[in-house]
This record gives sequence, structure tokens and C-alpha cells, in this order.
Amino acid sequence: MQDIIVNALLAVVVAAAAVLRFIIGGKLDSGMTKKQKVMLIRILISAAILLGLQFLPAELFSRLDGALFPSAGRWIRLALYLADYFIIGYDILRKAVRNILNGQVFDECFLMAVATIGAMALAIYENGDYLEAIAVMLFYQIGEWFQSYAVGRSRRNISELMDIRPDYANVERDGRLEQVDPDEVEIGSVIVVQPGEKVPIDGVVTEGASSLNTSALTGESLPREVNAGDEIISGCINMTGVLKIRTTREFGESTVSKILDLVENASSRKSRSEDFISKFAKIYTPVVCYSALALAVLPPLVRMLALGLPADWGTWIYRALTFLVISCPCALVISIPLSFFAGIGGASHEGVLVKGSNFLEILSQVKTVVFDKTGTLTQGVFEVEAVHHNNMDGAKLIEYAALAESASSHPISKSLQRAYGKEIDRARVSDIQEISGSGILARVDGVEVAAGNDKLMKRLGVAWIDCHHTGTIIHMAVGGEYAGHIVISDIVKPNSRRAIAELKAAGVDKTVMLTGDAKKVADQVAAALGIDEVYSELLPADKVDKVEELLGGKSGKAKLAFVGDGINDAPVLSRADIGVAMGAMGSDAAIEAADVVLMDDDPMKIAKAIKISRKCLGIVYQNIVMAIGVKAACLILTAFGVTNMYLAIFADVGVMILAVLNAIRCLFVKKL
Ligand code: ADP
Ligand code: MG
Repeated sequence: MQDIIVNALLAVVVAAAAVLRFIIGGKLDSGMTKKQKVMLIRILISAAILLGLQFLPAELFSRLDGALFPSAGRWIRLALYLADYFIIGYDILRKAVRNILNGQVFDECFLMAVATIGAMALAIYENGDYLEAIAVMLFYQIGEWFQSYAVGRSRRNISELMDIRPDYANVERDGRLEQVDPDEVEIGSVIVVQPGEKVPIDGVVTEGASSLNTSALTGESLPREVNAGDEIISGCINMTGVLKIRTTREFGESTVSKILDLVENASSRKSRSEDFISKFAKIYTPVVCYSALALAVLPPLVRMLALGLPADWGTWIYRALTFLVISCPCALVISIPLSFFAGIGGASHEGVLVKGSNFLEILSQVKTVVFDKTGTLTQGVFEVEAVHHNNMDGAKLIEYAALAESASSHPISKSLQRAYGKEIDRARVSDIQEISGSGILARVDGVEVAAGNDKLMKRLGVAWIDCHHTGTIIHMAVGGEYAGHIVISDIVKPNSRRAIAELKAAGVDKTVMLTGDAKKVADQVAAALGIDEVYSELLPADKVDKVEELLGGKSGKAKLAFVGDGINDAPVLSRADIGVAMGAMGSDAAIEAADVVLMDDDPMKIAKAIKISRKCLGIVYQNIVMAIGVKAACLILTAFGVTNMYLAIFADVGVMILAVLNAIRCLFVKKL
């Protein structure tokens, strides 16, 4: 055993020296913090001294005995070892003392301090070998160093993935570009974005054409073309042309700030597994400490008093100390939050923003996915197909519709405005009232105009004429008279069908579509996409009722997700176990209310998000089982005296390193 330790020390010295040499030589951009470098130096020095002391011939010290004072050699030897012990362990000892003073006794520093001081004391008492106590501390510190390096590495990876924060915005002043803090740019200012720069603020392109790299936001690797007149969101990288952008939001309200906010706050929402682990550690550590105490005291007492054997204190105290070293819960305490963090990072790289670890956990248990139709499964971009039964010119009817709809952000409204095609003179419209799930009432050029579905007509007491076309029908009443209907139709998103199939493949039992649109359209879309259940002609409040019914109908741990664009469905988003919103098209209210945001509105990403969450939770459970399993086995072996402290520390550090490496796997997401 001694040989193994000596060889391990030798390896540590060589490895640490090599790494340090490269760092000092500037050949290795290690990305280490100063603290990590200092720790590496301490490890090197301490391991070297320990190695040196191991090789010093024993006679050297025995010759000193009596030279100065009786057994001087023994004390000098002890002093050298102690010095080495402090070099490697002073911060642990200090932390342990500080925690005790603060009343938080039981943590890993305490465990390590007690174990190593105990081993030291035993060695002094028996005038034995100090190697063990110091080596345990040394290997523990190596484990800690490795862990801190790995954690720092993965955090940096994530922030690189999320490297979308713009540092400045270019504002043109007197023909010269000036770099200003994006925070200082007011709404409506014109900013210039040059090739290679990040778009700092949301806006509309006024001049120029370019292609944008949106991969940091959406995970989409194909560049997106933009021209004058197009909306542009912050966080993309401008690749080819110079763009002039008139800002439509302040920096703080822009997409990029919102995303960064979400990601930064994500880790503060703890999952149940994380809660479990911190509660577990609070109970576990004291239990282990008291068990160790019992292991140290009870067997010797029993031997002495009941069996009449020698107490053999040393053996049992040693076993108790080993027990303490093994029990250190750091593998769990570190790896679980790290797994969630990496999972959230991996998902955001794919354009899926998960607002907290708890949501990642819920996502992994989703068995029912409920969709909104318009804007979620369909593009929400309607084309006018026909105008029927009109008592006025069709173009005039569309003009009335577009004007009445001028204030709404509903996809139908936007489409009618597009069909009208001319600038809308808002002065012609007044008294706008939007009845969600039904339509719009407004006064246009002094005439009452109603645009909406049959519910709206019923409400107004206007007789309407049914349409034999399959499509979304906008009935119009002008001046209280039925004026005909506009047939518009929407197309399903290219990925919707595959998205439903992928969900099924990912183990989702039931897919449901809820819509306020007519039954005919709804049934057609559902059949085309392979959706299990459809409920149509629902008002927003009916959608909430339906979701509650579905929530009531499912079993035990299975969770329900609602996916919507937030137009008329923000209440449902918050009512479901987990709300998923479309980020690019969805309303701000939806992005607020949702727990998961799909940046590029692609329904395929839902299946992907579920897969990521399952993988992440799988890794979390693997780590819990591995860490607790290995520790339990070692603890039992120790109680029977099979292991020793070296094995204990190797088990502890080894499990921790494996758990951290495993956690980092959450960062990497397979392409669908
Ligand atoms: P979905 O559930 O498909 O997202 P909504 O609940 O937003 O649909 O709307 C349901 C129906 O109400 C629409 O199909 C349309 O007939 C009518 N409607 C809602 N808003 C408007 C509007 N602004 N203009 C005209 N019709 C509307
Ligand atoms: Mg909708």
C-alpha cells in the first residue's frame, strides 16, 4: 500500500509540475482562475515535500535524538510533516473552524478536518506514519481542484453558448459612427450594425440587406436573409451587409436582454431533486458523524466490558475516521446542480429556453401535450381565399375589416391588414373593442363594423350565412347589417406533422389540440397532423376549463404541457403543469407566462426539449445512484475493517470526478 501511495505522489508531482511549467511558459491557455493556480502550486509543493520526507532515511532523525534534547529527532520529523499538512490543508481547517463558529458544524470540511486530524493524532500517539493523514488531505484537495476546474469549464462553455450580450451599439452622429452603451439608445433611434457585429437592440431594418446568423438564439444553423422593412431581433450576428435599424424597443426590453435574464435566473429555480439533495445532505452528514462516533466508541467498549478483550481503541478510531472520509457527500452536492445547469445550457443552445431546473424536471415527466392551433401548429399567416355574399365591393369589405382590426395583434388581424396592403389611417377608426375568441367591434368612418366568427354575429343578433368552404370564416357586419364573409386560410408549419410523430416516439401518450376556430378547420388540421383529440370553437375561458379537465383526467406523476403562442392563451399557459410559448411570434405576455420558450417557433423543439430533459434527469439519477451506492458499499466495508483511508479517499474523489464528468454530458444534445 505504501508503495502505491508513494507512486501516486510521484505521479502528482510530475503532473502538477508539467502543467505549471506550461502555464508559466505561456504555452497553455488553461483558463484557470488564480485560486486554481495557487492550489496547483500548493499541491505540487506538498506532494514533493511528502515524497522527500518519505525517502529521508530514518537514521537521520534518530541521530538527532538526544543531540538537542531527548527524542528531538522524533519531534523535528513531526514538525516537518505538520508543516506539510498545513500547506495543503490550512484552508480546509480554517473553513471547518469558521463553520463551527457559525453553527453549521456538519459539512465536508468538517469531515475532512476531523478525519485527518484524527489520523494525525493516532500517528503521533503510536509514533507511526504521518503519510496517511497528509495524503488523504492531499488527494481530497486534488479532487476539489479537479472539480472546481471542471465546473468552471462547463460554466464557461455555457456562457460561450450564450455569448449574445452586445457590448455596444453604433449610433450615427454627424456622419460619424459612435459606439454607445446599448442601454442609452432610445426607442426610434437609428443604429448601424456592421458585418460581424451583434444586433444589439430589436428593431426594423430601414436600409441595407444582409444575412443573419441566428444560431445562438434559435439553434438554427442556416443564415436568415433580411431586407429593408424586415423586423430584426437582437442577439443575431450580422454577417454580410451593413444594416441600418430603427429600434422598436429599449435594450432592457429587447430579446437579447430577456433571454439573458431568463438564463441567469434559471438556476435560481431549484428542482425537486436539488431540494432533495440539500435536505438529504443536512440529515445525512450528521447521521454519518454520529455513526462514526459510535463506530469509534461502542465496539471497543463492548470488547472491553462484555467480552473482556483488549479495547483496541486505535483500530476502531481509525475505522471511524475512514468512515468519515468516505461519507463526504460532495459528489452529489456538486454534480446535481451542475447537471441541471448543463441541461439548461444545452437546451438553450438548441433555441429552447427553460426558465428553471424545476421545469426541466417537469418536462421530463410530460405525458400529455396540448396545443393551441393558430400560430402554434399553423403559421398564423392567413391568406384571403374568397369573399362571399358581400353586399359591397370585396375590396371595400376587406378595407373595413383591416381598419377595424388595426389595433389587434391577433394573427387574423395582421393577415387582414396585409391583405388590405395600404397604410392604415388610424384616424378613421375609433371605439375598438376586441372580444377574444370571437372577433372585433369598431367604428370605421363613423359606421359600426363587426368582424369575427359566428359567435360574434349571434351576440350582435345579426343573421349570418354559413360558408361551405373549409377555412377560417370572418363574418362581417357593417352598420348592423350582414355584409358577407371573408374566407381566409392558414397553412400548417412544415414541421408540425413530424413534431407530433416525434412526441409520440419520445413517449408522450396523448396529443390534444384546442382552438377557437371552426370545427371543420380544426378537424382537418388535426387529421392532417395525426393529433389524438381536438376541441374546437372554444373561447379562451373554455380552453382553461378543457385543460383543467385534462389535468384532472391524467394519472399520478404524468404531467401536462400546454404549447401556445400566447394570443388568447396566456391563462392556459400558466394553468398547465408546464407552459411552452413560441418566442419569435408569441406575445410578450406569453413569454412571461411560459416556463419554456421556443425561440424559433418550431414545434419540433418540444420533442427535443423533452428528450434533453429526460437525458438530464437520467444523468441526475445515475449520479445519485452511483454516489450513494459506492458510498454505502465503502461504508459497510469500512465498518468491517476491509478498507483503509486511502481507498476511502480514492473512492470519494473518484466518484466525484465521475459524477462531474457525467453531469457535463448534459451539455451535449443529439441532433434530431
Ligand atoms: P386559436 O385558438 O386557434 O388560436 P383564437 O382563440 O385566437 O384561435 O380565435 C378563435 C376564433 O375567434 C378565430 O378563429 C376567429 O374566428 C375569431 N377571432 C378571434 N380574434 C379575432 C379577430 N381579431 N378578428 C376576427 N376574428 C377573430
Ligand atoms: Mg392562438
